Amino acid sequence: MTADTTELTAAAIMAGEKQHIMQTYKRAPVVLTHGDGVKVWDADGKEYLDFMAGIAVNALGHADAGMAEVIASQSRKLIHTSNLYFTAPQVELATKLTANSFADKAFFTNSGTEANEGAIKIARKYARVTHPDQRKTGLVCFEHAFHGRTMGALSLTPKEHYQAPFRPLLDGVTVAPFNDIAALDQYITGETCAVFIEPVQGEGGIHPASPEFLAALRKRCDQVGALLVFDEVQCGLGRTGALWAHTIGGVEPDIMTLAKPLAGGLPIGAILMTDKVAAVMSYGDHGTTFAGGPLVCAVANHVFDRINDPKFLSNVTEVGGYLTEQLEELNSPHIKEVRGRGLMIGVELDTEVETIVKQGADKGLLLVGAGVNVLRLVPPLILEKPHVDALIERLTGIFTHL
Ligand SMILES: *Cc1c(COP(=O)(O)O)cnc(C)c1O
Repeated sequence: MTADTTELTAAAIMAGEKQHIMQTYKRAPVVLTHGDGVKVWDADGKEYLDFMAGIAVNALGHADAGMAEVIASQSRKLIHTSNLYFTAPQVELATKLTANSFADKAFFTNSGTEANEGAIKIARKYARVTHPDQRKTGLVCFEHAFHGRTMGALSLTPKEHYQAPFRPLLDGVTVAPFNDIAALDQYITGETCAVFIEPVQGEGGIHPASPEFLAALRKRCDQVGALLVFDEVQCGLGRTGALWAHTIGGVEPDIMTLAKPLAGGLPIGAILMTDKVAAVMSYGDHGTTFAGGPLVCAVANHVFDRINDPKFLSNVTEVGGYLTEQLEELNSPHIKEVRGRGLMIGVELDTEVETIVKQGADKGLLLVGAGVNVLRLVPPLILEKPHVDALIERLTGIFTHL
């Protein structure tokens, strides 16, 4: 392809998007065509280092040979069957997820918001079964939480810009302050059926919940008979260097939701739960046409096995530690704080992150913000130290000329 035609093609794609796609995404003026590991190329042949991994999704990077092999071989057998039949990959995946977590049972969904939507329904049914004579329908979430865009999950995502146009939302949602142990008793009451929390808040700016806070939450939920739901859609499955972000404090939830990296980029979500919780759900109470299909589950099995390996996870911890260190050593007056765990790092800036994201794209970096002034670094988990060095060199250039 000559430079001329690729340029034209990219321009035509961007024009076509404007004309034919509902305009809810503010996209960078980049048309991506292919990738390899941590690298991605655009239609002009320009190379980028990917430090956002499709928003914490592409855990194994791009064009992974192992994933491609599983996709090809499973697609020649079965892609979809519906949940009216048994298939091995779904049961295998549930077996793996439960064997390696607090949970006894899994339910598969197609996305993160859908996993939380299902968790809301399960919590409502659980309260109805365990407290039949009580009004126990309240839900608690936290300031800066992000649980998704569908009506239930949106009700637990207290951001005015996201919620305002779509009210009325779910009734009985309370928004509690994050990491504030003293406030818990006031917000979590006998009317609460479930408390939703991200052990490390993603979208809201990379805020880890303190282990003490999670322990206090567990205690309060038990006192009032509410279910504790950990949303690990973004922070789960190796992102923090541990398989699950919540295990650092030793507190276990009743339900955990997963999605983003679970099939390395194919759409999937999961609700993990204890037997005690699962027991309240009966035939027909919940369902989905697509979710848990053999193709996506075969890929998720492969992704899970690769990530759930001490060597893989220690690379996340080591390279993540190195990245944090290097960011701190940047010593830029524009950096107010570096926080997070593993390869889930937030860099709080004294300026709008949009500026950094734009200049990053110019310098061959795929970056994403979290909120207005936090740079969110959530690269593929296969990241290596030379990638970090390249990022730091380019960020240094950006920060010095701000
Ligand atoms: C992205 C995200 C969701 C929503 O997932 P979708 O797949 O976009 O619906 C829910 N919770 C958390 C913590 C997330 O980061």
